[in-house]
Amino acid sequence: MREGDAVTADPADTAIDPLPPDRAYYRVGRATRRLVVVSNRVTPMGGAKPDSGGLAMAIRSALQESGGMWFGWSGEVAEEPTDEPGIAVDGPLTFATLDLSRRDYDEYYIGYANRVLWPLFHYRSELVEFSRRYLAGYLRVNQMFAQRLAPMLSTQDLVWVHDYHLIPLGEELRKLGRTQPIGFFLHTPFPAAELFRVLPNHRDLVRSLCAYDLVGFQTQQDLDGFRDYLLRWARGEELGRGVWQAFGRIVRAQVFPIGIDVGTVAAQAANADGTRHMGRLRQSVGNRALMIGVDRLDYSKGLAARFQAYSHLLETHQETRGRTVLIQIAPPSRSEVPEYQEMRKTLAAVAGQINSRYGEFDWTPLRYINKSFSHQILAGFFRASRIALVTSLRDGMNLVAKEYVASQPADDPGVLILSCFAGAARELGEAVIVNPFDIEGMAEAILQGLNMPVGERKERWAAMMKVLERNDITAWRERFVRALSAIDTRR
Ligand code: UDP
Repeated sequence: MREGDAVTADPADTAIDPLPPDRAYYRVGRATRRLVVVSNRVTPMGGAKPDSGGLAMAIRSALQESGGMWFGWSGEVAEEPTDEPGIAVDGPLTFATLDLSRRDYDEYYIGYANRVLWPLFHYRSELVEFSRRYLAGYLRVNQMFAQRLAPMLSTQDLVWVHDYHLIPLGEELRKLGRTQPIGFFLHTPFPAAELFRVLPNHRDLVRSLCAYDLVGFQTQQDLDGFRDYLLRWARGEELGRGVWQAFGRIVRAQVFPIGIDVGTVAAQAANADGTRHMGRLRQSVGNRALMIGVDRLDYSKGLAARFQAYSHLLETHQETRGRTVLIQIAPPSRSEVPEYQEMRKTLAAVAGQINSRYGEFDWTPLRYINKSFSHQILAGFFRASRIALVTSLRDGMNLVAKEYVASQPADDPGVLILSCFAGAARELGEAVIVNPFDIEGMAEAILQGLNMPVGERKERWAAMMKVLERNDITAWRERFVRALSAIDTRR
């Protein structure tokens, strides 16, 4: 919706039905619309490599159901990228991908996205490495994406742009005359307004966000950061019911906490029994209490604090020595970013110290593994774990927390220990909630989890499952698409 458009009613009131049997289209009023998803990285279905990003998992399960087009970077860096997107078709889904040049990759992806926006949005302003070169690369790639995408769009398409890499894309599409509904969803946190102002180009980014018809956030807190900014720094005016006027535009901002495919995860976990991996896991753990952490190797995940909490537990509660095992799966990510290289060294050292201090000839307390596993294998590992540790210092949502809950057996569920700074904590209040800056508090929470009676575990688990089932990945997608299409029908 652009300047001058009026909003009179709640878009959520307008129902849309996906059209069976060809689910590649949405019916909106009398029109039939294709869903076009745009994200930095496109990962085709059935790829052999287990993907370890929450965003890719979420988009994949969302699109697998609805069909449509997925547009974005192929993941390839080419010497001379071609102008034409590569096209692949899989049933009702079309993949359109572009390669990036080395310069684009360095400035847009490594530079501005992952050395400026990522640390800032995760409240790590001291790690921000802003440069005008990075910013120019970011804007250039967004412009290039828009130029390549625009000719592929029909006026009927619903466009849904994902995440911090592509904030200016909507505005660029508007400049090229695209008038259909364009929505944006931020998978990461949106920081407090005062922190956001650390960005030299903060105003331009928020102006770009206001070029979308609909902007979605993971939690109310993220939405509050955006609203505060609009109020204090953009002379924004709330027109009511989440609709804002700012920068001469009208934008709806709303919370859409992302969900998971609960049924699939539960089935994968239940089917894992009897597999070779599970046999090996059980044999190696024996009758010790298994604890698990699964995170991309990222400074936002609070891995050092988690290791320290475990170390503190072993130090202060000697009865847990030899009786517990922590498996930390941490596939490397963004290895070209210097801050990630540093962190990897630090974590390896901390893990080594714990094992050398507490380990025995027949017991290694911490198994720290820098490789990724498939979803199937992870679901089995989750089911076999008495405790999951999700101790992010900041996290947009954290899908691992949700997947752990969905993997548990109803008669003997495990305990989720969850950071109050992960978006998932807003929905999963029945987890054992911890502050990841309180090492002793986290050690106490692990002890609480180890000693928690089955009755209490069942109660907490059942309450969390209800939330997950109500707001699964399908519900998330449908809510967003419905809100986006409803804006259009009212134009
Ligand atoms: N994941 C995976 N294999 C791994 C590690 C992680 O498939 O070895 C998946 C995990 O199951 C989850 C996603 O990657 O679906 C991580 O999402 P999350 O929201 O927890 O964190 P993000 O990486 O997006 O910050």
